[in-house]
Amino acid sequence: MEHPEATVEKLVIVGSGCAGLTAAIYAARAELAPLVVEGHEPGGQLTLTTLVENYPGFPDGILGPELIDRMRQQATRFGARFVPGALTAVDLQQRPFRLEVNGSVLRTHGLIVASGASARLLGLESEKKLLGHGVSTCATCDGYFFRGREVAVVGGGDTAMEEAIFLTKFATRVTVIHRRNQFRATRILVDRARQNEKIRFLTPYVVQDILDPERGAVEAVVVRHVETGQIERLPVEGLFVAIGHDPNTAVFRGQLEMDAAGYLVTRNGTAASVEGVFVAGDVADHVYRQAVTAAGAGCMAALDAERYLQKLAEAGR
Ligand code: NAP
Repeated sequence: MEHPEATVEKLVIVGSGCAGLTAAIYAARAELAPLVVEGHEPGGQLTLTTLVENYPGFPDGILGPELIDRMRQQATRFGARFVPGALTAVDLQQRPFRLEVNGSVLRTHGLIVASGASARLLGLESEKKLLGHGVSTCATCDGYFFRGREVAVVGGGDTAMEEAIFLTKFATRVTVIHRRNQFRATRILVDRARQNEKIRFLTPYVVQDILDPERGAVEAVVVRHVETGQIERLPVEGLFVAIGHDPNTAVFRGQLEMDAAGYLVTRNGTAASVEGVFVAGDVADHVYRQAVTAAGAGCMAALDAERYLQKLAEAGR
């Protein structure tokens, strides 16, 4: 429902992960009173992890959900507001932009899209229960915790190969489980992984279950041979799911320029293809995907949005 006199926001930020919250802190301090649409995964990917040891400023590490909570408090302190729910429709042809959240209409002069990317998961009940407790979607974030242990990586793309190679710094053995005998990953990465004596390949196998959710820790994965159906139990203490990410951009299809995989395209810093729309974090980044890079991009998007809104105000539009 759209109220005829609905207030027009200066700035709406879509997404409440590292990128969105950092944008909110900067925009709130610039007195733009940003409205943050929390999204379907409030707090973003950091809420799915446990200890974060590589975010600067926390020499003893900090729990992902706590880091997010602190960013949120910081943004709130300067006047950011939050609305639960996800964006269900947008019209970026209209000025001010028209957004729908939970069936209500919002209007805004500026928009920052920080809706992130979601790591693809296998879809197992045990995986959901053990995420952050031995099951991880980020080797850079969590590899360190597996020093001296055996782990497995599932996937056959570049990310799976890179993560497997990276994990050999810590783990005693890394088993790559892939559902086909052919790899999607580039040849050079597959070769590098094959040459690494700590890595072994298990193909064509799929992960059927992860043990043991009752104990709250990973002790083995149950794998099934795709052709013979043979089941095996692989004792490992960690499972890294590296089967790709999906940027959360479906609602912007046809409105904002995106690449073939759906990541938003930016130019001149954080500007999207429609003037007044800025982009930050994993929704436009399939390379770095770190909390600190997302936070940095959130800062950039807020500064760009502030400049845009200033020009808009000066032009009296
Ligand atoms: P990706 O290329 O889409 O590969 C995903 C892999 O996971 C595929 O091997 C796929 O198997 C497998 N998979 C997907 N869903 C699965 C499921 N439900 N169960 C089991 N396996 C499943 O994803 P990515 O490796 O994250 O790479 C994403 C993009 O980033 C790519 O363009 C990649 O080249 C790029 N990248 C580049 C670098 C680099 O250049 N250094 C590093 C990382 C990523 P199938 O092959 O059978 O479909």
